[in-house]
Amino acid sequence: MGRKKNVVITGGAGFLGSHLCDLLLSDGYKVFCVDNLITGSMKNIEHLKRERCFEFIKHDISKPITISGPLDFILHFASPASPIDYLMYPIQTLKVGSLGTHNSLGLAKCKKARFLLASTSEVYGDPLEHPQKETYWGHVNPIGPRGVYDEAKRFAEAITLAYHRYHKVDVRIVRIFNTYGPRMRIHDGRVVPNFIYQALRGQPLTVYGAGRQTRSFCHYYDLIEGIYRLLLSDHVGPVNIGNPSEFTILQFAKLVLKLSGSKSVIKYEPLPTDDPKRRKPDISLARRLLKWEPVVQLEEGLRETIAWFQEKGCLEK
Ligand code: UDP
Repeated sequence: MGRKKNVVITGGAGFLGSHLCDLLLSDGYKVFCVDNLITGSMKNIEHLKRERCFEFIKHDISKPITISGPLDFILHFASPASPIDYLMYPIQTLKVGSLGTHNSLGLAKCKKARFLLASTSEVYGDPLEHPQKETYWGHVNPIGPRGVYDEAKRFAEAITLAYHRYHKVDVRIVRIFNTYGPRMRIHDGRVVPNFIYQALRGQPLTVYGAGRQTRSFCHYYDLIEGIYRLLLSDHVGPVNIGNPSEFTILQFAKLVLKLSGSKSVIKYEPLPTDDPKRRKPDISLARRLLKWEPVVQLEEGLRETIAWFQEKGCLEK
């Protein structure tokens, strides 16, 4: 029998990182979870603390890291990930996307490990092409408040491919579209936790602008499965992973009201700067390469997420 495969997940205590820790542990990997906990939380990995094959390392990946022994995969998921987090941590967001990606790539190079970058639909900015294909170069405002995230991730993609071309590091890039599910932070400011919190507390749902902007929401379970398939595939360039069912934010607000049985009203607030008007992934590449497409319907996934927020007592805070 060969040895267990060792994987590092940066941002492993975050929403997506912690679900990846669960999946890889259950599939027989040894997992090193690296997180500085500025937006991640020990609560997300509490249940893994006693697992023999799980190790938590509190570390800011913007600073170099050494891990002894062989490593097979490095998954770089560390980053603030919601618009209010970028406003609160603009420098950390830029650093983790640039220096953090550099350090993670350096580790991958030294261990001859495969590297997977968590990139984002934000590299398309406020897109002029719809739906967005991987070939689209994007429409990003580099100096706006969201630019810190968008440009950090665009740089991250560039340095990932530079390490591939120059140092022959084996790399994968996933462009993640809006994702939701248990373990999101109730106050992270994104539309899913905001609306659920407001609906369950009987507060007005804050729809920004006229609510005509669109998003396409993917359940974390589908997303993690797509990422795992990409990790094990042999495709180097970026791949969109997301759910192509597109909703306006107003439709989404009404769906949350219906599923939660809330009597909350809708309140219109100003649209944030550079808020993308439309977003929907073209997933033909993932369908073809990975034989992947989402299976969880929004209603089903949202019911589960609403129940999770209720059960975890997140609403008291
Ligand atoms: N949004 C909203 N009300 C809120 C939070 C967000 O109308 O309380 C809108 C936001 O303007 C954006 C969409 O919902 O158009 C998704 O926002 P989110 O912050 O979840 O992620 P984004 O896709 O913008 O990164």
